[in-house]
Amino acid sequence: MKDRDEILAGAGVNTRLAHAGNDPADFHGFVNPPVVHASTVLFPDAATMENRQQKYTYGTRGTPTTDALCAAIDELEGSAGTIIVPSGLAAVTVPFLAFLSAGDHALIVDSVYHPTRHFCDTMLTRLGVTVEYYDPAAGAGIEALIRPNTRLVHTEAPGSNTFEMQDIAAIAAAAHRHGAVVTMDNTWATPLYFRPLDHGVDISIHAATKYPAGHSDILMGTVSANAEHWERLHEAQITLGTCGAPDDAYQVLRGLRTMGLRLERHQESALDVAGWLEGFEDVARVLHPALPSFPGHDLWKRDFTGASGIFSIVLDGGSPERFRAKAHAFLDALRIFGLGYSWGGFECLAVHVNLSDRRICKGPTEGPVLRLQIGLEDVKDIKADIERGLKAAREV
Ligand SMILES: *Cc1c(COP(=O)(O)O)cnc(C)c1O
Repeated sequence: MKDRDEILAGAGVNTRLAHAGNDPADFHGFVNPPVVHASTVLFPDAATMENRQQKYTYGTRGTPTTDALCAAIDELEGSAGTIIVPSGLAAVTVPFLAFLSAGDHALIVDSVYHPTRHFCDTMLTRLGVTVEYYDPAAGAGIEALIRPNTRLVHTEAPGSNTFEMQDIAAIAAAAHRHGAVVTMDNTWATPLYFRPLDHGVDISIHAATKYPAGHSDILMGTVSANAEHWERLHEAQITLGTCGAPDDAYQVLRGLRTMGLRLERHQESALDVAGWLEGFEDVARVLHPALPSFPGHDLWKRDFTGASGIFSIVLDGGSPERFRAKAHAFLDALRIFGLGYSWGGFECLAVHVNLSDRRICKGPTEGPVLRLQIGLEDVKDIKADIERGLKAAREV
């Protein structure tokens, strides 16, 4: 495909997912790129070695396999460059280390993924960065929190577990007026349903562990930068040595080929189940941004082109002493849903959410919060399973 870039430029998202990344013509026509296992790369002579004048120089700096994945992600994100790292968590910590220094102030959304908060409160704080959490509803009002030394504003929308939306464009504009870098953890939407860089974000972060890998068997993160921030991000990756493994990169590239179709199904089933759950008296609230009843729905509708398969429900819990027992009864009655962390795989998962880390944006108080990942199973079976859970919770 000589004019591959030209074909992909105007193509639909599933066409791009099918062809982005590697060019089969580069590898004798084989459809998929080879998995290159590499530390050492040989040079033809001493001069080339001294000048490093060849495309690949050492395994930590990229291989044809990792390049294929990075190129595919760039294509989807509209980014100038992408690094791959060993986990979604590293996709947060590496850019934070790239852009923050001792004496800086960082603004972190309070509905953030818990391990991000842990990194901020421990290592980042120890390294001399002042961390401050802000309300996901801040919008343009974030400007009031920006200090002369604010260097980074981290966003995540929808928020982890409770799915608060954020006005990303307004936050990015305010941050940029003061020279701060804007990062976004975009794992929930994937670049298919939201492209952060188009909305003013500088650095887009993904746990590729989730929908890109899609099968609950790979850990990987991607970090994509706009042109202004690419060099510094790439330099940090080289400095830290946090490179991604070739077999995992290959599997994530393989996962991308079907991600569009999988997401369509996740979206459809999750919306069906979420809407259905709103009809139960013992469900106090359904936290799903694509439901018109959700407080952040208008922002979701303005900015996002789709919804993925994870949301939460708040049970009507009666007295707080029974919240935990109700949550456990619900979870223990499930047969199709697995009890486990992470999401984005093909199967249904449920977890009792712990929101005790929140400082500004407190969690719901009506009852226990249960997060549901709606997998690719048949909706009637998923609903029957949830009914088992609700019945068990009711009996507590
Ligand atoms: C899962 C997740 C991560 C971390 O991904 P891992 O690969 O599990 O480390 C980061 N951010 C968000 C929003 C996530 O849901």
